[in-house]
Amino acid sequence: MAERITGHTELIGLMAYPIRHSSSPAMHNEAFAYLGLDYAYLAFEVDNSTLEDAIKGFRALKMVGSNVSMPNKTVVGQYLDKLSPAAELCGAVNTIVNEDGVLTGHITDGIGFMQSLKDNDIDVIGKKMTICGAGGAATAIEIQAALDGVKEISIFNVHDKFWDNAVETVKKINERTECKAALYDLDDKDKLKEEMDSSFIFVNGTGVGMKPLEGMSVVPDQSFFRPELIVVDVPYAPLETKMRTMAKEAGCKTMNGLGMMLFQGAAAFELWTGKQMPIEHMKEVLNIKYE
Ligand code: NAD
Repeated sequence: MAERITGHTELIGLMAYPIRHSSSPAMHNEAFAYLGLDYAYLAFEVDNSTLEDAIKGFRALKMVGSNVSMPNKTVVGQYLDKLSPAAELCGAVNTIVNEDGVLTGHITDGIGFMQSLKDNDIDVIGKKMTICGAGGAATAIEIQAALDGVKEISIFNVHDKFWDNAVETVKKINERTECKAALYDLDDKDKLKEEMDSSFIFVNGTGVGMKPLEGMSVVPDQSFFRPELIVVDVPYAPLETKMRTMAKEAGCKTMNGLGMMLFQGAAAFELWTGKQMPIEHMKEVLNIKYE
């Protein structure tokens, strides 16, 4: 590594708090080294109180780009010059690109989700999706799916603090894309079954299944799954969730959230470097299996 860094090396950052657990630095630096690209990716502990200064520093240092994660994703847009259409619709940014001093905010989580499906030979364009969730991950998926041409999206969420966000997302999708979106209460299990039965793909975009909600599932039992339904869990720790186990037992093709994680990084990598991330190498090095 020390030999790789020179006076020409360009800096790409990650601004979030907490952040020391992140696998993004290992992923991007491995990809830069593998392709012989002269960039270094470093994580910086930045929260809302230091974000504005961090972006000023980013401009002053002429950094090439940065990732942004919680608690900064929904806040950073005000300090940037432009937003991509998806970032504007989501109200969130996870990637900043510096083009000659003009900072553009992008959201690559939804792009990553859609790309991970393609990588698994799953074509959702023109089809119906049922998805649980109204937080950061689910909203990014819902907006990108609508922008990319998914025909219909049924969103389910519980009546918590995220409900109003889901109302907004449905409104934006219906007004600004060709996709037809609707919102339902996740407690209405009959409606959930009905919507899943008429869908091509079912996505859990909530934190249910992941710590501290490990061992729980948004889908009550195996009867909700038919073998033709594609089932995707966005959480990836633990990799095997109760929901995916039930779906697999019902004969469904399933995916965990590692594909979305890998491809959101790949999309950011391409925005910064103009080069494709070496996906198969990264899967091998990071031991990523998402089926
Ligand atoms: P968030 O806090 O923004 O949203 C949480 C969502 O979970 C909301 O829809 C909320 O209503 C729902 N929820 C919480 N408790 C619930 C419960 N008891 N019953 C039903 N619904 C409940 O979180 P997020 O950032 O959107 O992350 C959601 C999950 O996706 C997490 O497990 C996260 O680790 C994972 N994630 C994965 C990726 C990836 O690349 N695969 C990216 C981002 C997030």
